[in-house]
Amino acid sequence: MEDIKHVNESLSRRGFKSCMVPDGQSALGTALGIIGGGSVGIGGSLTVKELGLYEALKERGNAVYWHWTDGAAAKARAAAADYYVCSANAVTRDGVIALTDGSGNRVAALSSGPRNAILIIGSNKIVADGREAFMRMRSAGCAGANAKRLGLHTPCAEYGECDDCTSPERICSVTAFFERPSKGLENTYVILVDRNMGL
Ligand code: SF4
Repeated sequence: MEDIKHVNESLSRRGFKSCMVPDGQSALGTALGIIGGGSVGIGGSLTVKELGLYEALKERGNAVYWHWTDGAAAKARAAAADYYVCSANAVTRDGVIALTDGSGNRVAALSSGPRNAILIIGSNKIVADGREAFMRMRSAGCAGANAKRLGLHTPCAEYGECDDCTSPERICSVTAFFERPSKGLENTYVILVDRNMGL
């Protein structure tokens, strides 16, 4: 708990609209409260899947676009929704958020996409600093596990080690560190969850 308190304060100091919650159920309720009746785009995220946010929004009647359930065409709609929801790959103790994508869809949405973004981040993604964030993103437990899950043949998936590959299946082609919320968005919310969530 100490760790996420510190990270929460750091994120707030940097201008993110940050809060912390004890578990997934509270994270789901908080996200639904922020979103209200707005339309929602969702990025690739095991955290969001674990929460059941897509199903909860559908049931409530929100318009939701998620390429994991609705196919690739949903990516363009997601980028034009009122809210974009995803997780991050790491957050540093001093409040820097790090993400890496194969196609840059999350990075683009958090830079200049929908007016509002909500990042839901489990405490397992807290790291000491930017270097550790980068190492986490390229680790067997993060990129490797994701590549394996997707059936890709990258070194991190096959041997558990990153060799900065040039594979066409590379899943970490676009990497970004958000030191403050992008000026391209009106609000960037962060929900820190005091639980392990996602990879
Ligand atoms: S550069 Fe290649 S091997 Fe390294 S983490 Fe990314 S996809 Fe895996």
